[in-house]
Amino acid sequence: MTSTALPTTDDLRAHARDALRNIGVDVVEGDGLHARTPLTGEHLFGLRSATDADTEQALAASRTAFLTWRTTPAPRRGELVRRLGELLREHKGDLADLVTIEAGKIRSEALGEIQEMIDICDFAVGLSRQLYGRTIASERPGHRLAETWHPLGAVGVISAFNFPAAVWSWNTAVALVCGDTVIWKPSELTPLISLACHHLLTRAADEVGAPRDVHRLLLGGRAVGETLVDDPRVALVSATGSTRMGREVGPRVAARFGRSLLELGGNNAAIVTPSADLDLAVPAIVFAAAGTAGQRCTTLRRLIVHRDIADTLIERLTTAYTKLPIGNPFDDTTLVGPLISTTALDAMRGALARVQAQGGKILAGGNRRLAEAAPAAAYTEPVLVRVDEQSDVVREETFAPILYVVTYDTLDEAIALHNDVPQGLSSSIFTRDQQEAEIFLSAAGSDCGIANVNIGTSGAEIGGAFGGEKDTGGGREAGSDAWKSYMRSATNTINYSGELNLAQGVSFL
Ligand code: NAD
Repeated sequence: MTSTALPTTDDLRAHARDALRNIGVDVVEGDGLHARTPLTGEHLFGLRSATDADTEQALAASRTAFLTWRTTPAPRRGELVRRLGELLREHKGDLADLVTIEAGKIRSEALGEIQEMIDICDFAVGLSRQLYGRTIASERPGHRLAETWHPLGAVGVISAFNFPAAVWSWNTAVALVCGDTVIWKPSELTPLISLACHHLLTRAADEVGAPRDVHRLLLGGRAVGETLVDDPRVALVSATGSTRMGREVGPRVAARFGRSLLELGGNNAAIVTPSADLDLAVPAIVFAAAGTAGQRCTTLRRLIVHRDIADTLIERLTTAYTKLPIGNPFDDTTLVGPLISTTALDAMRGALARVQAQGGKILAGGNRRLAEAAPAAAYTEPVLVRVDEQSDVVREETFAPILYVVTYDTLDEAIALHNDVPQGLSSSIFTRDQQEAEIFLSAAGSDCGIANVNIGTSGAEIGGAFGGEKDTGGGREAGSDAWKSYMRSATNTINYSGELNLAQGVSFL
């Protein structure tokens, strides 16, 4: 199915300009960066890319702001984030429009992304009164041991195109209440939503009397990111994107003993056992695999199905895949919007050609759509591929809606297949057998940072920590105690005994 006609690039340009104006941003055109839309694949605006001088100025201003911000009481810092959350609520529709125009998300997913930003603001405001340290029992009389948490400094946030705003907010809301400042280098593919977010945060800062420079935005490509990666004034580099990017960033930050928080690629799988409720599993699988046109880090890419139910499940998935409405993401009936670019489509086709050469069989989907209406855009049918084994192409992350289906006979075999990929982000099992579910969640089960039961791999909520193991980079963001990555701890020994007592019974003088 193809949903209604696509808007024209002129319509989208006017729409983006209106949304930005409603938020308070006037587009100032410049050189170096193209704002474009995957809906038509065409250029919207030229924007100015940050120069080395801009980056230097941002680093210096961020440092000055930090000197004030670090001693502002944390609950007062929370007021800035609370105001940001209010502004995000007020402008939710316009922000979601920008996400659709720049990242191609369907309307409900774009609104969901902004909701996630609101949720992390609420979470961070609560956190601003809960940055707890511990008191530790001292072995010495009249002594107290305490752990205190202090702000780190400037946090460099480097973000990917597919969650162009939410990933920024996960980092920024938490970093700000922790007393850090933020310098954001968004994806070069999504500058407009970045301008909008930066504007709202700056407005919130003005309204609550916080230093404006607690947040700086640097638009540009990878070179701008590299400057942040190498600069010792950036205490923490929080980088979200491909494993390729993380492999470059991680060692460079480590070489200067900086801290990094890496949120990289996934190759997520679900195991479907014979007892699974297929009425629940089928829509969960289709959303996880085809939603966001397969462009979530948590997208379901591998389905590991028990041999006894494989034919039934495949038949139901094939039927669901052939009915997916593909096209204009502003149309409420559309479920699959465009890929970000024709380059992504080429990568998808390359992976499909390789897997077919290795014996894989396409069961449904895989055709390009709307090529005549929008030759520069990349609309495609999500694709279901049956494979006999997890070959090299299956073990890679192809950032497109390809779901590989492989069968298993024993749960041990399924878990071994599940873990036999370099990445370790998200995972799930569909089962009504509690023992199987518990084994999957145990130390001998999924090796991922996210392990779910009877729900797909994508669509995490704020509250739990988000991140993954192995080639996914090991970072944790957003919930639980992920805030500790944005602070440094100090251990304090306080002697109120009036005597000098050395630890471990050491005597001296
Ligand atoms: P990408 O790696 O191409 O770019 C991500 C960001 O890194 C961009 O801002 C880019 O300019 C910057 N960058 C690239 N190379 C750099 C370098 N050497 N030094 C500094 N900065 C550099 O990723 P993308 O195509 O925008 O996003 C898709 C990828 O991101 C997928 O692999 C996806 O799984 C991953 N992702 C992961 C998470 C997560 O939380 N684990 C979330 C979203 C996306």
